[in-house]
This record gives sequence, C-alpha cells and structure tokens, in this order.
Amino acid sequence: MCYKAAMDWKNTLKNSVVRADGLAEVSGADLSEAAQVTRTYPMRINAYWMDLMKKVGEPLVRQAVPSIEELEESVLLEDPLCEEKDSPVPGLTHRYPDRVIFLVSNACALFCRHCMRKRKVGRSEGVVTDATIDAGIAYIQKTSKIRDVIVTGGDPLLLDDEKIEGILERLSKISHVEMIRIHTRVPATLPMRITEALCEKLKRFEKLWINTHFNHPAELTPEAEKALKHLNRTGAPLGCQTVLLKGVNDRPEVMAALMRGLTKNRVKPYYIHHGDAVKGTGHFRTSIETGLAVMGGLRGHLSGLAVPTYVIDLPQGGGKVPLLPESVVKKEKSSLTVRGYDGKLYTYPL
Ligand SMILES: *Cc1c(COP(=O)(O)O)cnc(C)c1O
Ligand code: SF4
Repeated sequence: MCYKAAMDWKNTLKNSVVRADGLAEVSGADLSEAAQVTRTYPMRINAYWMDLMKKVGEPLVRQAVPSIEELEESVLLEDPLCEEKDSPVPGLTHRYPDRVIFLVSNACALFCRHCMRKRKVGRSEGVVTDATIDAGIAYIQKTSKIRDVIVTGGDPLLLDDEKIEGILERLSKISHVEMIRIHTRVPATLPMRITEALCEKLKRFEKLWINTHFNHPAELTPEAEKALKHLNRTGAPLGCQTVLLKGVNDRPEVMAALMRGLTKNRVKPYYIHHGDAVKGTGHFRTSIETGLAVMGGLRGHLSGLAVPTYVIDLPQGGGKVPLLPESVVKKEKSSLTVRGYDGKLYTYPL
C-alpha cells in the first residue's frame, strides 16, 4: 500500500506540463509568450495542480503559468537578499548567528512563478549534491552557535523518504541543534506526497517543525487537508509562510479565508512575506499600503492565533522586519489615541 502511495505522487509529478503547448486547455494562457519565458525560467505544472488550476482559475493560474512580465523588468536583482554573500559553504546561508538556511534539494513539485530562488530553482545553478549536503552538515556540526536549521531547497520533501530520513538523522544527532525546520510547499502543490510511510519516518524526530507554503484558500483541497492531518500526527508543529501576491491574495477577505482555513487544519500562520525584489517576479509585488490593509483585515477580526506577522526582508541581508498598520494616532502625556480593530478611535490612559 505504501508502495502504491509512492507511485501515486511520482506519477503525478511525472505527469507534469513543462512545455508551452501543454497549456492549450488553460484559459487565458498565451502559448507563444509562455514558450518565450520558459527559455529563461522553466515551467513545471504537475497533474494535480493542472486539474485544480483549471477548476479555480486566475489565482492558481497566476502562480504556475509563465507570464511575459517575467522578462519585462530589469531593475530587480537575482539575489537581492544576498544569500550567496552569507554562504560559508555552497547551499548554506548563515546570516543570523543562531540559525542557517540549508538547501538539500533542487527539485520542486511546481515551479512557482513568484519564487524568490528563481535564480536557482530548476536551473543548472542550483545543483545540490551529496557533497554539498555533506559539507553543509559538517559546517553545522563544527559551528556550535547554530541552534536552528532550516532545511529547504527547492523542496526537501521531493527527496526519497530514506534520503530525508538520513539528513534528519544526521542533523538530529548534533547536540547544539535544537530545532530543525522543514520548509515545504508539497502539502499545497503535491499533497499525495505526504504518504503514511513518510510520516512514519518524520515521527521519529523530536526536534522537527514543518513550515508549509499556502497562498490561496483554494489550495486547501480535501487532499491537502488530508496531508496536513497526516503531518499533524507526526507531532511536528505546523506553520505556514505565505507570500503576498498581486492578483492572488492581495485582498483582505481572501487572506482572511486562507488564515481561517489554515488554523482549521491546525497550521499556525507564521509569516506573510512582502514580495522580495527578485528579478522576474516584479509583477507580483504589491504596495506596502496593500500589505498593511490586508493585515488590518486580519488583526482583531480573526483569532489571534490565525494572524501571522507581515515582514519585509531587507536588501543586502539586513534581515526580516515586521510591519504593522499604524495604530497610535496621537500620543499625549496622559493618554494615547489608538485606532481599534473596528476602525474607531479609542483613548488609552497612561
Ligand atoms: C528568513 C531567514 C531565516 C529565518 O528567520 P526566522 O525569522 O527565524 O524565521 C534565517 N536566515 C535567513 C538568511 C533568512 O532569510
Ligand atoms: S516550491 Fe518554493 S522553492 Fe520551489 S518554486 Fe515554489 S517557492 Fe520556489
């Protein structure tokens, strides 16, 4: 049965549209433009997302079908966050003292058009090998101030079960590593990957957290909910990192529905990322005002547990900084005038 489950996700993945002519049935897709874009940025739309996208339309199409806009702007940078600069060994970024980003896979179940690692994903630049994984683990081992390892890629859960287990095993044994986070978009893009066999393996690792990546409430299909249920049973706390995307989730009601859907499935919304200035993704970026308006529609309106932190990632490696709608309207000696979640003004005595 587990064997069959593994065949399932591998077949769904094998059945991916990677050439523009495969988009003929997708309404709104421009085949010649898509063909042009895929020469620079590859496309992969697996059979699961293809079906879902045809049902849901625009918000899912935008995330997966190449747009000519990817080639149009030139002011943005390939690596605005300077991940390469803070990279002591290939595939590892060490910027904050106590935590690292560790790339263990180049593969993704879907190539998201908004990907911040567009320079690497699916292209020859992004080659993770057994040697880079060994070098990364050796660096983490000898650097005792690292307490949190973010295992990412690409998507770590596209590796085979044994390979994932092997990496987690080696990281778990390092005593100064107190947390291991897997970053994965698979629950949204290839939920059948979350097999019982995989979850049996994940269960063993007590330091493990799992951060998912959902951008739209329509991604929370029955299959995705089942995947989240299995992941929850591994005991790893589940989070979600969402990217604020123009035309996908830049309206407060859409974002609120997503956050409600996540918490209903016991996934804690962690971050909403303002779109980074990554080359080829400028058409997804909204204004900061839009992001703040989205946040205004969450805080107070939803359970506090459903409200993530809205962050911008500073260029040149300054790190993530939270942004909040301005709530203090006036500050006086004996009182603050503050805007409540309902938009009305209140006086808070000092
Ligand atoms: C985002 C990020 C992290 C993790 O930051 P948290 O706020 O702890 O989630 C670590 N290193 C780099 C370089 C990052 O960009
Ligand atoms: S799954 Fe993550 S790494 Fe892969 S293309 Fe999407 S955003 Fe990029």
